[in-house]
Amino acid sequence: MIPYSTQFIEEDDIAAVVDVLKSSHLTQGAKVEEFEAAIAEYVGARFCVAFNSATSALLGAYAVAEIGENDEIITTPISFVATSNMAIALGAKPVFCDVKTDGNIDESLIESLITPRTRALVPVDFAGKPVAIEAIKAIAKKHNLLVIEDSSHALGSGIGTQRIGSFADMTIFSFHAIKPITTGEGGAVVTNDEAFAQKLKLFRSHGIIKKQLWNSDMVSLGHNFRLTEFAAALGLSQLHKLDRFLATRNEIARYYDERFAGHKLFATIAIDADEQSARHLYPLLLSPALHCSKEDVFTELQTRGLGVQVHYKPIYQNSFYKERFGEQRLANTEHFYKSSLSIPCHQKMSMEDARIVADTVLEVMEHYSHRECSF
Ligand SMILES: *Cc1c(COP(=O)(O)O)cnc(C)c1O
Repeated sequence: MIPYSTQFIEEDDIAAVVDVLKSSHLTQGAKVEEFEAAIAEYVGARFCVAFNSATSALLGAYAVAEIGENDEIITTPISFVATSNMAIALGAKPVFCDVKTDGNIDESLIESLITPRTRALVPVDFAGKPVAIEAIKAIAKKHNLLVIEDSSHALGSGIGTQRIGSFADMTIFSFHAIKPITTGEGGAVVTNDEAFAQKLKLFRSHGIIKKQLWNSDMVSLGHNFRLTEFAAALGLSQLHKLDRFLATRNEIARYYDERFAGHKLFATIAIDADEQSARHLYPLLLSPALHCSKEDVFTELQTRGLGVQVHYKPIYQNSFYKERFGEQRLANTEHFYKSSLSIPCHQKMSMEDARIVADTVLEVMEHYSHRECSF
């Protein structure tokens, strides 16, 4: 099975972890700081605060933005549930904005959703493709809102010469196993705001500041969301390879773009000329003629060894959301969900793997195109 994404761990990654395991210090310390400094430098932000997941990083970002009871955030339903879950965990309400054909939040619809309770705009760089961050920032500025960007797919993505992580008030990255680089589990918030960075550190570790000798003081409510030293060592080792990983993903994506160009049964998502994408996912968008065969196409591709996946079931369609916030249907989101199917694209694949994936996709799609849709 060629999975849609997977980690790529090499001998030097393992050696970096083993080194730390043999040392005297396993919990958050110098390696974490080194990893944070390297991430901040890579993305072009002043501060990076590492967490043990992007989920806890999102919770931290919302908490230090003082998002809470009766507040609203405007976000996208085409994301992993953690993006909105963590706002709900603080008592806030996620307001879902419809998406564009590339799966990113439709910035032209955001303003109509702003209420006196809105506190932050939370876009997600879906699949690694940058959102229209300048337009989103302009809306935020006009209405005095924060921009908290969930860039869990997008470490290494950028616009022009600027990398994602340098645009928003706070940007979240994930280092989950299958994200652009991994620490096993892990995440981070990057920001240019020193006060946010300080508060994030307190939130991550019990709200405790060290004083003199044995004396410490707990000044705010915090958690234990720290990353281990060996995870940070893995992250550092992986970060050195990120540009190579991105080059591989982009080479595969370009190959798919060529093989699939102008296909009548499905489309692909183009990356603008001035943008770079981490290509965390390579989604195909099935034409309506294939929508009713999507389950069969999915099963057939899986049977033939392609670990395809669908990103994402719209968040508002989950039972918890329906029960708490009622039924919702956003037209483009529904259409996107019916169309999208992520095929394998990751740094562990060879170009020969990519050729097999493309051949298989073309064959299977062709096979199901002869089926009649019953609706
Ligand atoms: C993976 C992911 C998360 C959660 O990341 P974890 O590190 O697994 O907590 C959040 N948002 C998006 C968009 C993701 O893809």
